[in-house]
Amino acid sequence: MRVVLLAYTPNAERLCCAAAKLCHEKEERDFMEMYEGLSDKHVRAVLRTVLKLGHESVIEHASFTFYIEGVSRALTHQLVRHRIASYSQQSQRHVTLKNFGYVVPDSIKENEELAKRYEDVMNYLAKEYDEFLKKVPKEDARYVLPNACTTKIVVTMNARELRHFFRLRCEKSAQWEIRKLAREMLRLCKEVAPLLFEDIECED
Ligand SMILES: Cc1cc2nc3c(=O)[nH]c(=O)nc-3n(C[C@H](O)[C@H](O)[C@H](O)COP(=O)(O)OP(=O)(O)OC[C@H]3O[C@@H](n4cnc5c(N)ncnc54)[C@H](O)[C@@H]3O)c2cc1C
Repeated sequence: MRVVLLAYTPNAERLCCAAAKLCHEKEERDFMEMYEGLSDKHVRAVLRTVLKLGHESVIEHASFTFYIEGVSRALTHQLVRHRIASYSQQSQRHVTLKNFGYVVPDSIKENEELAKRYEDVMNYLAKEYDEFLKKVPKEDARYVLPNACTTKIVVTMNARELRHFFRLRCEKSAQWEIRKLAREMLRLCKEVAPLLFEDIECED
């Protein structure tokens, strides 16, 4: 699995803090002056209060775009259920998956006999896929491809949706592969905008 934080809103924390202050400032004053005058300490205090109160619309102004590869279609099927997001995924309709990559769950990897059977199934499907490609359009041949097949996807979510996504997918009850992805996305978000995610943890 490879996860890259491709792009994110610059000065995300300051921006969200200024948006929150705009809503509540008691006296009229120049927005840019307020924005530029915000100290780090003030940004921290405002964001902590806002997130504690659940006034999360102000953090929708910050968005994060990830490039993800080497994950299974089983994972992306779960990922795209998160609707407040934008997705661009490699098409199995237009892209020929010669010798397709696939994810092997640890439970299968750890069992020698099952691991061998799994590999045989994948090789069989790859061979059949090639045969089908000779006889039917790519969009139909892809029906023989498994959930394990790896894929590539670009995902954009705002900080509010990301927090929701992390809460659901970092949970112990979440499926292991999407949990691994969520943990890595959270780590990357915390590197660039720690205040927006500091109260969210992903236990091992
Ligand atoms: C552990 C786990 C197991 C799961 N198992 C299954 C399963 O067996 N089968 C299955 O089908 N799904 C399953 N899911 C997926 C789950 O049902 C949700 O589809 C997925 O987590 C997306 O979450 P969401 O709908 O809250 O959020 P998002 O789509 O990310 O939306 C964020 C929030 O926006 C609001 N929102 C978005 N769209 C609407 C809308 N149309 N109407 C009203 N409010 C909206 C809601 O408040 C929502 O929580 C599972 C999820 C988890 C975490």
